[in-house]
Amino acid sequence: MTARVGVVTGASRGIGLEISRQLAQSGVNVVLTARDAQRGKKAAATLQRLGLNVLFHPLDVTDPQQIRALADYLSQTHRRCDVLVNNAGILIDQRGAGVLALQMDTLRATLETNFYAPLQISQALVPLMRRHGYGRVVNVSSGLAQLQGMGDGTPAYRASKAALNALTLMLAAATKGSGILVNAMCPGWVRTDMGGVNATRSVEQGAETAVWLATLPDDGPSGGFFRDRTPIAW
Ligand code: NAP
Repeated sequence: MTARVGVVTGASRGIGLEISRQLAQSGVNVVLTARDAQRGKKAAATLQRLGLNVLFHPLDVTDPQQIRALADYLSQTHRRCDVLVNNAGILIDQRGAGVLALQMDTLRATLETNFYAPLQISQALVPLMRRHGYGRVVNVSSGLAQLQGMGDGTPAYRASKAALNALTLMLAAATKGSGILVNAMCPGWVRTDMGGVNATRSVEQGAETAVWLATLPDDGPSGGFFRDRTPIAW
């Protein structure tokens, strides 16, 4: 069988880099994407030195032209896209600023990366999945998006990930019965630039459920929200 091809966004560091490593280790040919070509190439080279099948391709997730170029590259060079992990994300809420102090510029920029981008990338790549009747889309979300227990801190981030969760359900509905499974996950609080040094989890732990969802068997779930391979409340 031809090897599966999987795209990971925002993969030059943090959870995205570790998802790329674990996904490649599972036998998927990984297209590691990042907006900074130098850092992306360096990250891909690190994984290649481990003997893993990883290629770099540039992608600023907020640039529609680059999204189209990625879809063309996958279509022409690999003739397929089997896995998409929408991992790139930003948390730019001002420290301590709750929803009543939320600046519209902050909200717009956050939605651009955390919501519009996964939507546009899915619109570009799901058609490639449909060609072979197989696909796995994983949206890296956050427990901060949960409507149950919704709080007031980091409002732009919470709103963007809640929208990403809604998108997960819409995509699952749109692809029902097509062999494409779409799920969202929360990595937990992970020691990365975003999570900080005091976070409770390693990147290995943070990436694990995303990779499980990216390699689900055909009878696996679609339209779910998971942490540690276990469904959690929306
Ligand atoms: P991180 O260390 O801050 O890394 C974020 C990654 O996203 C970087 O590779 C960054 O690239 C990339 N990125 C941001 N904007 C981008 C853009 N426009 N185009 C392409 N790439 C872009 O964060 P992380 O902790 O690994 O987070 C990964 C995902 O997990 C995010 O979606 C985050 O919301 C989610 N998450 C994290 C935690 C946690 O505790 N860490 C908890 C819950 C959810 P650059 O290097 O170019 O900036």
